[in-house]
Amino acid sequence: MTRYTPDLFAADHADLTAIRRDIHRHPETAFEEQRTSQIVADKLASWGIEVHRGLARTGVVGTLKGRRPGQKTIGLRADMDALHLQEKNEFDYASVHANKMHACGHDGHTTMLLGAAKHLAASPDFAGTVHFIFQPAEEGEGGARVMIEEGLFDIFNCDAVYGMHNMPGLSKGHFAICAGPMLAASDSWQVTFKGTGGHGAMPHMGTDPTQPAAQFILAVQGIVGRNVPPTQTAVLSVGHIHAGTFGSPNVIPSEALVRGTARSYTPEVRALLERRLGEVAAGIAQACGCEAEYKYFRRYPPLINSVEQTSLAVEAAALTVGRDKVDPNTPRITGAEDFAFMLEKKPGAYIMIGNGGAEEGGCHYVHSPLYDFNDAILTTGAAYWVNLVQLELGDAA
Ligand SMILES: [Zn+2]
Ligand SMILES: [Zn+2]
Repeated sequence: MTRYTPDLFAADHADLTAIRRDIHRHPETAFEEQRTSQIVADKLASWGIEVHRGLARTGVVGTLKGRRPGQKTIGLRADMDALHLQEKNEFDYASVHANKMHACGHDGHTTMLLGAAKHLAASPDFAGTVHFIFQPAEEGEGGARVMIEEGLFDIFNCDAVYGMHNMPGLSKGHFAICAGPMLAASDSWQVTFKGTGGHGAMPHMGTDPTQPAAQFILAVQGIVGRNVPPTQTAVLSVGHIHAGTFGSPNVIPSEALVRGTARSYTPEVRALLERRLGEVAAGIAQACGCEAEYKYFRRYPPLINSVEQTSLAVEAAALTVGRDKVDPNTPRITGAEDFAFMLEKKPGAYIMIGNGGAEEGGCHYVHSPLYDFNDAILTTGAAYWVNLVQLELGDAA
C-alpha cells in the first residue's frame, strides 16, 4: 500500500494555497455560500467527479467511483461557511466583506478536501465509492442537519463518514482524536421569571421576579455539582440576564429573563440538565411567589466517534505524519460541531489537525478576528484524506 505523505502533494501546494486564500478573501455565511460552492462544484467537475448540488441550498456532493469494483461507500466532509465577524488581519487576502470572515478555517477544510479529491480523481486506485460532502452553515445553523433532512444519506449512501477540523495551538500538522464522545452537545435554555412587579419602596405589595432569578443563577451550578454524576462532565453557563429598564431602578420589574448554554457528552446527562434546569427554576419561582416559564432548545448533539473508524483515522494520520505526531486519546473539548448530526446517523470519526502556534509560544484561536488557517498544513490534510480512502477502500481494506 502506498503511504501518502504531504511531500507527495508538494506540486499542488501553490494551487491549494491560491484556492484557500481566494475563499478566505470572499467569505460567505450560513446557507449563502454561493460563490464558494460554485468554486467547489467547478473544481470537482473539472477533475471528472460527478457533482450534485442544492442540498441545504448551497451544499455540494462530489461522487467518485474507484477503478476497481466494490460496494463500500464512504463520505468525507468539509464545511464551507464563514463567521459574522470583522477581520482584523491586514494581509492581502483578508476578507473583502465587512463583518464576514473565515475565522474558523473552513476555507482550509474545503481546500484540503479539494486537494484530496483532485488526487483521487487522477488515480482512483480503490474499490468502492467516495462521496466528497461540502456542507454549508456549520456555524450555529446546523447545515449538516439540514443536508440530512433533505436526503443526504438517502441519495448518497455512506457506510462511514469522516470529518476534520483544524486546531490552533496543536503543533502544525499533528493530529488529535479520541474514540467515543469528543465534542459536547451544545444546547441553550431560558427561564422567564414572572411576578407582579410594583413600586421598589413597597415590595410587600407584589411579587418580585428578580429574587428567584438571582437565586436560580446560583442554584444552576448546584445541578452540575450535585446532580451530574461526579465521573461525568457538564457545563451550565449563564450568558444573558435581563430585567427592568435603565431609567427605572425604583421599579420592581414584572419579568426577569435568564438565558444560558448547556454542554454535555451523553444523552443521559443531556436529559438530566434539561429536566433539572426546569425543576430548579419552577421550585425557586414557587418559593418566591412567582412563576417560571422555561424553555430548553436542543441544538447540537454530542459528537461521538465510533471505535472502529477512530482506529482507521489514527492509522491514516500515522501514515501521513508518523505515529509520534498523532494523539489517539486527546482530551474532550466542550465546544460543539454539527458534524455530530452525521455521526448520529452513520459510524465515523472526526479528527483535529494542528494549525500550529504552540511552537511560536501562542496563537490566535478560531473565532478570533486575527485567526488565519495555516497554509502549510493544506497538503498534510489532503494526504490524510487520501490515506484514509486507501485504508477504507484500498488493498488493505
Ligand atoms: Zn467555528
Ligand atoms: Zn469550525
